[in-house]
Amino acid sequence: MVSRLVLVLGDQLSPDIHALREADRAEDVVVMAEVMSEASYVRHHPKKIAFLFAAMRKFAARLREDGWTVDYTELDDTENAGSIPGELLRRAEQRGAAEVLATEPGEWRLIEALNDCPLDVTQLSDDRFLASHARFEDWAKDRKELRMEWFYREMRRETGLLMEGGEPAGGKWNFDHENRKPAPGEIDYGGPMEFTPDEVVEEVLDLVEARFGENFGDLRPFTLATEPGQARRALTHFIKNALPKFGDYQDAMLEGNGFLYHAHVSFYLNAGLLSWQEICEAAEEAWRQGDAPINAVEGFIRQIIGWREYMRGIYFLQGPDYTSRNILRHDRDLPGFYWGAETRMNCVGSAVRDTKEHAYAHHIQRLMVTGNFALLAGIDPHQVHEWYLEVYADAYEWVEAPNVIGMSQFADGGIVGSKPYISSGNYIDRMSDYCGGCHYDVKTKTGEGACPFNLLYWAFLDRHRDRFERNPRMGNMYRTWDRMKDEKRDTILAEAEEFLGRMEKGEVV
Ligand SMILES: Cc1cc2nc3c(=O)[nH]c(=O)nc-3n(C[C@H](O)[C@H](O)[C@H](O)COP(=O)(O)OP(=O)(O)OC[C@H]3O[C@@H](n4cnc5c(N)ncnc54)[C@H](O)[C@@H]3O)c2cc1C
Ligand code: SF4
Repeated sequence: MVSRLVLVLGDQLSPDIHALREADRAEDVVVMAEVMSEASYVRHHPKKIAFLFAAMRKFAARLREDGWTVDYTELDDTENAGSIPGELLRRAEQRGAAEVLATEPGEWRLIEALNDCPLDVTQLSDDRFLASHARFEDWAKDRKELRMEWFYREMRRETGLLMEGGEPAGGKWNFDHENRKPAPGEIDYGGPMEFTPDEVVEEVLDLVEARFGENFGDLRPFTLATEPGQARRALTHFIKNALPKFGDYQDAMLEGNGFLYHAHVSFYLNAGLLSWQEICEAAEEAWRQGDAPINAVEGFIRQIIGWREYMRGIYFLQGPDYTSRNILRHDRDLPGFYWGAETRMNCVGSAVRDTKEHAYAHHIQRLMVTGNFALLAGIDPHQVHEWYLEVYADAYEWVEAPNVIGMSQFADGGIVGSKPYISSGNYIDRMSDYCGGCHYDVKTKTGEGACPFNLLYWAFLDRHRDRFERNPRMGNMYRTWDRMKDEKRDTILAEAEEFLGRMEKGEVV
């Protein structure tokens, strides 16, 4: 008879996770399980599944070395109950336990499943984040408008990161205006550190190939880190070789190089292989040593203690219905080219190719290419949300949903962003080399070869005039639209409609 089970989920692979801290190594039994319900409630990219299963198996081995008893269920175990509550019930019966210690999952769906589980489950707070739910609620209450920048400044003060005598280092909170350089001609960074699969990883790769080989995405080559030591080496590699230019080229995009100077650490951070503290401290130290400039380090730290924490706060503040928001009433189906079908739009094709290959695309590809297109084309935001949850190896609902439903699709009506992130082809042309190799001409606004982003941009503004016309940050766009001749406006709207019609019919667009 044991007193308690201790549940550790696949993205809770931190040795000091709350449930383990509260548990008794000599008495309690850790439960970890690869279950079909989690692996298939959306059709995850095979790399994402392989990364998590491999990292889970290695974490379980480490816990055993540290003296824990671990009941680990592999996906193919014949007894596997297929779901997290099912596995808890099975293990509880085997072990004679009635009580479960868990750390709160990062998704309402699972929180509710644990609440409904007929065992005595305690969900402890996931305190691997800087801001607890209570801290975020306290910050958000009584504010007319929530803006990340104000929250971020409080997090800087609270952590002391990049602070000097109570003032922001470098004299400014935010160096973003220095961070908008277009794609450089050449990249002097070879990309993230890669790891050769060991025996554990190879075994998982075979399993994933057999069970999830049909899912969208390339399983091999698989080069992700699957243990904390590797993830730390990958972090050090980034800090030394890419961080100095992270700021300058944060928004740039290059065909065939989805990494540029990005950190490629979100998988490790979100699954618990790295902590936000060690990432931010390493970046700050690089600045203090004079190895990376302030615009790069401030921009990088802001993503983590600012955006990442802010997004989590919004997700839990908004509640379980967040992913079904659709304020713009968009209802088109996600077109096949999001799943790799042919498209003539080089920017979209390239971002989807990077995604298929790596289960990764960087922020601006996600926001200003695939996200921007979906928003302009009026795609159902729930389908967009599911796509992002499926295809990126760092995607968990607490962080993916506010980025997609909120930031990218404006489906929450402006909780995350004060205006929609939309652009015509001009922005993509300025920040990338995509347009040069495209079937369409970014400079052409209507007629043969006109860039679809140009057409759809104006059609979006026209369609949602009532909502956005009075937005102070969008007035200029409407004035430009209104200055066009009626005939030109009509042509743009008709061609946008025609393009969407062909897309809906499944023609190659
Ligand atoms: C539509 C859309 C969907 C996204 N979905 C996810 C997701 O499912 N999971 C996820 O972790 N991030 C998501 N992001 C945020 C961001 O794109 C990724 O965190 C980033 O691309 C990860 O790559 P990186 O480690 O190279 O990040 P870098 O660009 O090097 O940034 C460093 C770190 O900052 C954090 N970060 C940066 N921007 C954000 C942000 N907007 N929200 C939260 N954290 C941020 C990440 O932890 C990241 O690792 C999404 C963004 C958009 C626009
Ligand atoms: S021309 Fe338009 S569709 Fe083609 S790459 Fe540029 S922005 Fe994308």
